[in-house]
Amino acid sequence: MALAIVDSCVNCWACLPVCPNQAIQAAAPPDLPHFSIDAMACSECLGDYARPQCAEICPVEGAIVDELGDALNPPGSLLGLSPAQWQDVQQRCVQQGNPQQDTTQRANTSAARGETP
Ligand code: SF4
Ligand code: SF4
Repeated sequence: MALAIVDSCVNCWACLPVCPNQAIQAAAPPDLPHFSIDAMACSECLGDYARPQCAEICPVEGAIVDELGDALNPPGSLLGLSPAQWQDVQQRCVQQGNPQQDTTQRANTSAARGETP
């Protein structure tokens, strides 16, 4: 039972100090291009916190995944959007004829305006 950090990690260092088990290793390019989690040391924070602390603080959606590869912070989650709302945002982007515009940027703009997706 352990989480993992994937390629989208931006090496921001936020997660490393919050881990109660010192399970997070800093990036060390070129061999280790992004932060990683020692699977033997990671407890998913059970017994220490109600939620995995690395995922709680990570600013990048999808950078931390569980054993099934599912993101702890899936797309839209850091904006407070449910999966259904995120799906709706993506559909609206396509309907408005600009599918290449970054959907996160659009959602951020809507959230900043106080709009409901
Ligand atoms: S889930 Fe908890 S124990 Fe595992 S790496 Fe993240 S902060 Fe550390
Ligand atoms: S908080 Fe997220 S983006 Fe930052 S180093 Fe950790 S996994 Fe990477």
